[in-house]
Amino acid sequence: MNVFEKLGVDFGELGFDPERLRAKYRQERDKRVRTDGNNQYQQVVGDFSRYVDDPYAASDSEREPLHDHVDVAVIGGGFGGLLAGARLRETGVERIRLIEKGSDFGGTWYWNRYPGAMCDVESYIYLPLLEELSYFPIEKYTHAPEILAHCRRIAEHFDLYSDACLQTEVTEVRWDDSNEHWIISTNRDDLFSAKTVIMSNGPLNRPKLPAIAGINKFKGHTFHTSRWDYSYTGGNSSGSLEGLAGKRVGIIGTGATAVQCIPHLGEAAEKLFVFQRTPSSIDVRGNKPTDSDWAASQQSGWQKHRMENFTNLTSGGMGAEDLVGDGWTEIYRNLTGMLPPKDFEELSKENMSLATELADFKKMEKIRARVDSIVHDKKTAESLKPYYRQFCKRPCFHDEYLDTYNRPNVHLVDTEGRGVDEITETGVMVDGVHYELDCLIFATGFEVGTDYTRRSGYDVIGREGLSLSSKWADGPSTFHGYCTNGFPNCYFMGMVHSALTTNFCHLLDEQSKHLAHLVAYEKENGVNLETTLAAEEEWGATIKKLARVGERFFAECTPGYYNSEGKVDKKNGFLSNVYGGGPLAFFEILKDWRESDGVAGLVKK
Ligand code: NDP
Repeated sequence: MNVFEKLGVDFGELGFDPERLRAKYRQERDKRVRTDGNNQYQQVVGDFSRYVDDPYAASDSEREPLHDHVDVAVIGGGFGGLLAGARLRETGVERIRLIEKGSDFGGTWYWNRYPGAMCDVESYIYLPLLEELSYFPIEKYTHAPEILAHCRRIAEHFDLYSDACLQTEVTEVRWDDSNEHWIISTNRDDLFSAKTVIMSNGPLNRPKLPAIAGINKFKGHTFHTSRWDYSYTGGNSSGSLEGLAGKRVGIIGTGATAVQCIPHLGEAAEKLFVFQRTPSSIDVRGNKPTDSDWAASQQSGWQKHRMENFTNLTSGGMGAEDLVGDGWTEIYRNLTGMLPPKDFEELSKENMSLATELADFKKMEKIRARVDSIVHDKKTAESLKPYYRQFCKRPCFHDEYLDTYNRPNVHLVDTEGRGVDEITETGVMVDGVHYELDCLIFATGFEVGTDYTRRSGYDVIGREGLSLSSKWADGPSTFHGYCTNGFPNCYFMGMVHSALTTNFCHLLDEQSKHLAHLVAYEKENGVNLETTLAAEEEWGATIKKLARVGERFFAECTPGYYNSEGKVDKKNGFLSNVYGGGPLAFFEILKDWRESDGVAGLVKK
């Protein structure tokens, strides 16, 4: 018996056999499972460190080393660091020092300036502090230059440039017990102190390369998408890559980044070879300019309300109103809303899981049909169809990507899940065919699943010489995701032991408000705050208990960074350490904590 019959589905009307699709997904997954998991990637160190040189660096970066004292040192100048800076400033903190590797603020958006770079989450909820800054984005989905300009706007508005250290990398953060503050060392010989340290290193901050045989042999031009070399390609993030005229260009990778830059490469290169291991799912984008009347009609508090509405809908909530109304909310409406809420509640757990699987099949059938409706060549179209559940990989939305494959100069090289075989001095080998290239671009993503301190690039030494790398050797351990015992006045931002949100800036904003509250408490009461081991253990147990929910789903997924390349790593996996109760519930926990008396779970020293 077909298990989906339990749902009373009319298979004729459905137009596909869900059991068959299940088998096809399994078969496609099995093709891609590798024994080396995350070790298939090459770290960008040693001979490979040129891949992380900063092509956008300011040349006049000379400055004297700093030996002063600040109230708060914030490591990372992306949206997390900027939000922390902004919220701290709002509570009256005077000396805030943001330390940032890039020559300006922006984080992800400083580095990712590739042609076509834009944010796939609606601008009105993604760009933070819009009301505070009286700014309205120009389009529903914002492009990278507007995002970068917004980062600078935040920094200027909250006066975060004055104490900042740009083009500076932290090398160590060490607790000084006698002076009860942190000492921060950097690669610019700085050695300054701070009462409090906030770390916002970003979840995807270290580019990664595939350890393909011969990767360092290629003699043509090569770079990673997060360090786009416009001096070679010409043009800018809007395209017009005139430097690629007459060039044979190869790109490895077809994830969210590649999907955005491939249309521009296809337009400019004489020949473009796209080396694909797994296709992305590409849904409709439908970008449009902001309606100024609509923008002017928004009432005070609109952005928070809109953020919460989106986060609710994209984390399983069944609110009737859908303010953003886009591909993201549609995915969830599709998964949770194909039955009236009452019927849904009455389904058994097993049938509910079958019903969401069926909804997923339906959605992915539409995604695959979209490929057929756009891509003319049947074989190419077949290769571009994703056969996995939608959230096994980041869903993509684009209105020009698939069309690019109708250009006569664009060739999809489908490696059928295996990846590129070899890189030579002059090109790339796949299945015994050599593709001669002038330029090879790596759109191969970012390091995930390795130790927190390795990805940060520095260690933190707490009380009694305890290092964060040794404390977290078997995975992170925190109270509410933001602090760990042995490390007073030391706070983390990001996904570790906290919420998973489609709109990452929503999480960062909630965390920044919380941390500003803690710093204000430290100051008002003249204390250092540190979590107790008991509180940390309790939170760890909560994380573990709730994490089980997604484990089976990801175990069955095609490999990718969401499931630690098919190994569902429980230690440092991208999704293994998030609070499984949902983001809004997590924000409520933080809010309740702030509103309760005292500092439960923390000790004052
Ligand atoms: P990803 O990790 O998502 O993609 C890497 C790509 O490289 C995959 O297609 C992968 O294939 C491929 N690859 C890896 N090794 C090989 C190999 N040996 N041979 C051939 N192909 C290989 O990186 P991205 O930079 O695309 O995206 C990273 C994340 O950044 C996104 O998931 C998203 O979270 C974020 N992002 C957000 C955007 C936004 O709009 N907000 C836009 C762009 C990125 P396989 O799938 O088989 O592993």
